Amino acid sequence: MVEVGSIDNPLRVAIIGSGPAGFYTVSNFLKHKDLHVEMDMFDRLATPFGLVRAGVAPDHQKDKSVIRAYDKSAASPNFRFYGNVEYGRDFTMDDLKQHYHQVIFTTGSPVDRDLGIPGEELNGSHSATEFVAWYNGHPDFTDRNFDLSQESVAIVGIGNVAMDVARILCKTYAELAETDMADYALEALKQSKVKNVYLLGRRGPAQAAFTPPEIKEMGELIDADVTVSPEEANLDGASLRSIQANPDKNVAKNVAFITDYSTRERSGKRRLLTIRFLVSPTEIIGHDGKVIAIKLVKNEGYQAEDGSVRARATEVEEEIPVGLVFRSVGYRGAALPAVPFHESWGTIENEKGRVQSADGNQATGLYAAGWIKRGPTGVIGTNKTCAQETVKCMVEDIGAGVHFNPAETATSAMETLLRERQPNLVTYEDWKKIDQAELAKGEATNRPRVKFTSVDDMLAVLGR
Ligand code: NAP
Repeated sequence: MVEVGSIDNPLRVAIIGSGPAGFYTVSNFLKHKDLHVEMDMFDRLATPFGLVRAGVAPDHQKDKSVIRAYDKSAASPNFRFYGNVEYGRDFTMDDLKQHYHQVIFTTGSPVDRDLGIPGEELNGSHSATEFVAWYNGHPDFTDRNFDLSQESVAIVGIGNVAMDVARILCKTYAELAETDMADYALEALKQSKVKNVYLLGRRGPAQAAFTPPEIKEMGELIDADVTVSPEEANLDGASLRSIQANPDKNVAKNVAFITDYSTRERSGKRRLLTIRFLVSPTEIIGHDGKVIAIKLVKNEGYQAEDGSVRARATEVEEEIPVGLVFRSVGYRGAALPAVPFHESWGTIENEKGRVQSADGNQATGLYAAGWIKRGPTGVIGTNKTCAQETVKCMVEDIGAGVHFNPAETATSAMETLLRERQPNLVTYEDWKKIDQAELAKGEATNRPRVKFTSVDDMLAVLGR
């Protein structure tokens, strides 16, 4: 039999999910010049790039420049993109086994985590995921409503997603109007009455999940002052011991920014961003079904046996009147049909990207990369090394003869099948037309792009 990966029998790989991990899978395979590989990428959205389009903050356009590298990968004659098709709905595991030697899942972590406290279901209590997807024009979230007539907003969690949400709430209309934020969100934020934004961290400044550039930006907002109480900026004994034992330059920078903010006076800017530490929400309080306050308990830091500094509740409680609450406490992956899933971790069961069956053995032909492999941590670039590790395993397995044996090996076979099931399939060529139309609208209004936020509008560009 002709070797898989040769010119006469190319390795056929299906990539499910078109975010960074998906595109870094492509670029990693393209580095294997000795391997002839055909790659088909699928996405349930009509547009590629996952969180680079729908997650990265619209005022962080530089972070989107990775798209140039993804475009380069997509230009390979061995690559095809099929958007507007969903695994489990438009095609199944059996279809994949029929058409590919290997399947890699790069589906990310689309589900937000709950706080598990009373009042989360109230009107005005939202996940950061919803808000981020809404202002970024994700077609599934365009109908969401956020009551921006409220003066006070609490954001639970102090990771970089919380920083994004706080910044978007604190920026002026003029600043937001320079971004590619969805038009409806721009209009809603123009009318915003938000004056007080609280960021709520359950541990201290030395354990904060934000990174130095993001916390630095908080001190540079045009029309929002930032404040931290000196008492909460002070490091507790557990933090000091931990820093001494394991000095970390990012932690030191974070702490320095927080210390600076704790010494700042208000300068009379229109909005106030208050960063709190060592507080945990215990209840979201409502009236007539609507959020009116958030109840917090004061925590204290302590050093756990593994050396990490954790928080435990004291008896001290307080309430902050707020009309909106965003929880921004991380994400988890969603289980996929016929793919082993670790429920408590929210990831696909895997070993270095090789999917593991329930019996602990390798699930032949199945792989994972990105957040669905390792959980929702790291920056965009982290997915490059993550995909590299998985692709290395995939190449090794091909060498060892561990793969599916597809019956359909014609390059066009899967496309033919998909077109029967989803006539509105979107190819990369189609996407480039949508992209050009968005960029042209942006150019006309001095913005990076003006996004289409409904699939119908995107299809209209394609004359469908
Ligand atoms: P994250 O970095 O994991 O932060 C989650 C935050 O939620 C932490 O402050 C965590 O506190 C807190 N938290 C978790 N459970 C909580 C609870 N029950 N009560 C109160 N607080 C709780 O997650 P993320 O902000 O969603 O970001 C996901 C990843 O994307 C991160 O790696 C992030 O750096 C990355 N990202 C990067 C950028 C950028 O580079 N600009 C932008 C956005 C996102 P503890 O630390 O105490 O657990």
